[in-house]
Amino acid sequence: MGRPDRSSGTAGANLYREDPNLRFAVARALPPEQLAAAEPLLDALGEAAGGEIDRLATTADRNPPVLRPYDRRGERVDEIVHHPAYRELERLAFGRFALASGTHRPVLKYALTYLFAQAEFGVLCPVNMTDSLARVLRRFGSPGLRDRYLPRLTAVDPGRLWQGAMFLTERSGGSDAGAIATAACPVRPGEPVPDGLAADVPLWRLSGAKWFCSNVDAELVLVLARPEGAGPGTRGLGLFLVPRHLPDGELNGCRIERLKDKFGTRDMATGEVTLDGALAHQVGDLGRGFVQMAVMINASRLSNAVRSAGMMRRAYFESLEHARISEAFGRRLIDLPLQRRVLMEMLLDVEGAVAAVFETAGVFERADAGDEGAATLARILTPLLKAMVTKRARHTTGEAMEARGGNGYVEEWANPRLVRDAHLGSIWEGTTNIVRLDVLRAMSRDGAHLPLLDRLTGVALPPHAPLGRLLERAVGDLRSRCAEVLARSGPGRELALPRLVPALFHLVAATCLAEEAAHQLAAGGGGRKLVVAAAYAARWLGGGEDPLDAPDVVALLEPLERWDRLPVSAVDVVPLP
Ligand SMILES: Cc1cc2nc3c(=O)[nH]c(=O)nc-3n(C[C@H](O)[C@H](O)[C@H](O)COP(=O)(O)OP(=O)(O)OC[C@H]3O[C@@H](n4cnc5c(N)ncnc54)[C@H](O)[C@@H]3O)c2cc1C
Repeated sequence: MGRPDRSSGTAGANLYREDPNLRFAVARALPPEQLAAAEPLLDALGEAAGGEIDRLATTADRNPPVLRPYDRRGERVDEIVHHPAYRELERLAFGRFALASGTHRPVLKYALTYLFAQAEFGVLCPVNMTDSLARVLRRFGSPGLRDRYLPRLTAVDPGRLWQGAMFLTERSGGSDAGAIATAACPVRPGEPVPDGLAADVPLWRLSGAKWFCSNVDAELVLVLARPEGAGPGTRGLGLFLVPRHLPDGELNGCRIERLKDKFGTRDMATGEVTLDGALAHQVGDLGRGFVQMAVMINASRLSNAVRSAGMMRRAYFESLEHARISEAFGRRLIDLPLQRRVLMEMLLDVEGAVAAVFETAGVFERADAGDEGAATLARILTPLLKAMVTKRARHTTGEAMEARGGNGYVEEWANPRLVRDAHLGSIWEGTTNIVRLDVLRAMSRDGAHLPLLDRLTGVALPPHAPLGRLLERAVGDLRSRCAEVLARSGPGRELALPRLVPALFHLVAATCLAEEAAHQLAAGGGGRKLVVAAAYAARWLGGGEDPLDAPDVVALLEPLERWDRLPVSAVDVVPLP
């Protein structure tokens, strides 16, 4: 069978079937019977993501939502009018592929998210927030709140589904949650409340202004607010659940002031909201609002890393297919050494990100099952991945834009949307600096780097002494560097983070790739992953020659892409120190 016609980019490709690396990662992560059950769904989503979802996303991106504040009788309705293409994307994400509620196994959920994000990023914000809100309610909600709202949050029928959102950020800032000024007053005894709203937890009234509210017309919103009389900072924050409508259908004291005109995620509505005495249920312990909210934020941070990895893969796939069919100077682009190097860099970045993401998904799964060691690992892996995968996604999508030449800058191709959407990952849910500081907190308060480094030394490595030595040396170096940074006082501690965080991430990614290599070799699959692991490790941990300077390494791009069964000796071309 000949190669498909890729003159229109990767449109029409099955993004699952044509991604051997994803299939490898999923097959490794899921037990055989679960894999067999999951494959039809992954395959169907791969098909839809390369076709229908991609087309809908292009249309929805060009037709952003608008706010209709009043109906024709002048009644305040605050309706968000979405293009039908976005509504269809919602049906596909929440309904057909049940991304929010279909499975609580992070590995499968993230594999599906990775595929969906290659075509559409915007709607994945509501998906993730709905899923994360359900997670918070399961963990901290009272039985009454759970019974009332979980069936709505997990519904796949669009008529029954209530989506979730979280409104934290205020005009004074998003990173500094301790400055949140939205006030919460308890509903006084005897104060009338609408029938059917009261539950088994106290009701409050919230007042304040929220500055960035994505999925702004969600039916259920988690809000951080300061209860009357509570102290300053994050310790004084409570967590509240605000239904957008009261049981009689009236708006619940939430006014959407306007929508943001955004650089990316243009099809998903982000607005500014005034809470004007909105009735709210208390969630969990009043004095632990911020800590409870962190459950939602951490799940969202990891999901952001997964989505960014998906966008990196799409960007790489677009570049690869373009380079295979386009020519300059009488040669295919893929045959030009410098262009091949660009592609090889993308391949390494994508496979490193995927390996780290699936490792962390497994850790999350074990943490959810009550494994405390896994919870400590998740504590540091989550901000590490959020900081680094989102940042590499900016780089990879930018490179992919250039790899298509001038056409990459033109809106008829997927590239501009990928660049725009990829830039958001490192801003929301904590900017890069904020998650770097969270890595530092995970180290200083929880000592989470120690079990992480122990875990990285305890893995089954492929039988390749130079790679083993390099990884071992990197673990030793990082042990000393972490200790040295923690011993610092003053600004020097934070100033170490822009180099320490990438070093930790690349060590995680390189080790995960090495584990994949060991698995592939043991399964008789040859040395392909060994080459990738060695090149990744040499590039980011080697401290010497960049393996991508070596013509013999860059020459391996196509065999690696075809997933040829390479002999173990293929790794010898990688210059390892
Ligand atoms: C499209 C979009 C959608 C959003 N949706 C939501 C939403 O649904 N709900 C919600 O609550 N928020 C939402 N946000 C807000 C987002 O989470 C914040 O914008 C983000 O957390 C950054 O906060 P900020 O904008 O206040 O920037 P600031 O906190 O003012 O940060 C400005 C700069 O200062 C740096 N900085 C801040 N503090 C430190 C520090 N201690 N050390 C070093 N550097 C620091 C930051 O890294 C950043 O570069 C959204 C934002 C966008 C762009």
